[in-house]
Amino acid sequence: MPAALKLIDVTIAYHGHPAVHHVSGAFEKGSLTAIVGPNGAGKSTLLSAMAGLTRVNQGAIEFDQTDAQHHQIAFLRQLSGINQDFPLRVLEVVAMGAWQEIGAWGAIKGAVLTRIEAALAQVAMEGFEDRLIDELSVGQLQRVLFARLIVQDAPIILLDEPFNALDATTTTDLLKIIHSWHADGRTVVAVLHDLQMVKDHFPRTLLMARELIDWGNTVDVLATANLARAQANSLAWQDTASWCHVPGTLEAMNGKSHHHGAHDHG
Ligand code: ADP
Ligand code: MG
Repeated sequence: MPAALKLIDVTIAYHGHPAVHHVSGAFEKGSLTAIVGPNGAGKSTLLSAMAGLTRVNQGAIEFDQTDAQHHQIAFLRQLSGINQDFPLRVLEVVAMGAWQEIGAWGAIKGAVLTRIEAALAQVAMEGFEDRLIDELSVGQLQRVLFARLIVQDAPIILLDEPFNALDATTTTDLLKIIHSWHADGRTVVAVLHDLQMVKDHFPRTLLMARELIDWGNTVDVLATANLARAQANSLAWQDTASWCHVPGTLEAMNGKSHHHGAHDHG
């Protein structure tokens, strides 16, 4: 299977401290992968970089030629990233998944409207089109955001803790949608905490604690030794101690470049 998305020695730092450290590997086209690791492991940072929203400081993230553009990646942020105080209606939020066809202020009609209605039906939210999103429960809002992902129709779908704070029914319904994306042949990556859910539903797992601990079949990756290593890694890595000593990159970024070599300045 070709890779939908490749991580090549990816390091991402905030203020010089790497949150993701030299991570390499590939998400195969059509794979269904869970990203797991302790809090602060860099999971959200990595996902955001894969979505093109966070800059990679070292290494690269490469996409399959045919899926190459970022608009072909659908991304659901942790805690949704939707401001529920802003008076948006359900129809408008779902329509954002098709903004390239509609344009910022275009009318939502025709084939796009049909697609939006079908997506709302798939998440059991038909009839809610005119509701303001601040009137929705957490579960209903997440259903609406999944409808937006359905409308976006992307070959790569990235989900950051999509089941946080959701009840069992909503979780089951949204898991079914993830399975339908997998059945379509899309590449799906989700940051998750519930290891039982990972074992039951996600064939592949990427386990990280700033560094990659393991990446492969879920049954192998979630072996006890690996989990212990992930936990130990997260405890050992203090933000203040986590300098990356690859010459010139992170130090330079942080304004602390030491310019050791004469060749630095030619
Ligand atoms: P996870 O999603 O695995 O909990 P994150 O990617 O959110 O981890 O965070 C990884 C590390 O990067 C943490 O130490 C966190 O405090 C830090 N971090 C995350 N986002 C930012 C940011 N915008 N600015 C500075 N530090 C950040
Ligand atoms: Mg996170």
